[in-house]
Amino acid sequence: MRGFFFEKKYVNIINMSIEYFIVYILIFILGTIAGSFINCLVWRINNKETILGRSYCPKCKHGLGFFDLFPLISFAWLKASCRYCKEKISWQYPLIEILVGLVFVFVYQFTGFDLLSNDFANIKFYELIFRFILSTLLMAAFLYDLKYYIIPDRITFSGIGLMFLWIVSAFFLGYYTEMQMLGFIFSGLGSAFFLFLIWFLSQGKAMGFGDVKLVFLLGLFLGWPLIIPGLFISFFLGALIGVLLIAFKKKKMKSEVPFGPFLIIGTYISLAWGQSILFWYLSFMR
Ligand SMILES: [Zn+2]
Repeated sequence: MRGFFFEKKYVNIINMSIEYFIVYILIFILGTIAGSFINCLVWRINNKETILGRSYCPKCKHGLGFFDLFPLISFAWLKASCRYCKEKISWQYPLIEILVGLVFVFVYQFTGFDLLSNDFANIKFYELIFRFILSTLLMAAFLYDLKYYIIPDRITFSGIGLMFLWIVSAFFLGYYTEMQMLGFIFSGLGSAFFLFLIWFLSQGKAMGFGDVKLVFLLGLFLGWPLIIPGLFISFFLGALIGVLLIAFKKKKMKSEVPFGPFLIIGTYISLAWGQSILFWYLSFMR
């Protein structure tokens, strides 16, 4: 009996799975911190405030202390209200924190770098960090577009700068070939041109110009050919949800449904399953 429980391989399997579990929890927590930053960023850009500086309650203007800033926990502990004036805090805050936590876990899962490998010289580790930073910007664009029907240039252009930095450094480090690097730039330019045509021909009715700039960033991120299933899924989801909203009379035919969030969802789906979707599609071509 003793031999069974203390056999080395069993102990190892148990330890391994706990370690993996802890890594996922830590990445989720990192994502909730990014989510908390996104809530703050979106509020500050909309209220034309500086990005830096201490957070405060919008109602009573009381500065927030260290214990008011824990993602999710502060919200639950303070029962969804301000510690100082008891003003209700929107459910947007914890929802975005949870969502970004899940996005970080998703990105970790599909980047293919194992933090437990301790192989921090591996370029995949830096790719993971870049993807976490980019995801923070993309989820800020997601929330901003959903709330205010616009994507601030500051968010999109920061993302474009970040992606160029990543693509060029990865090329010089030998991670991407010249063709791959050009593939990223081509897919950015190509998809932006495609959306620009739709924007131009529909005279801005089908989508905003912010979506054209956003898709340039998404093309740089996904590269060629993953941008194709990415766009296809975005248009499909956008049309589906648009029709459902009209059918359930949540939106009128002419009212705006922001397209940016669909582009971002399509991008993540393509990042994970774009390759399989392409193979599946191409199998019908034979
Ligand atoms: Zn307050």
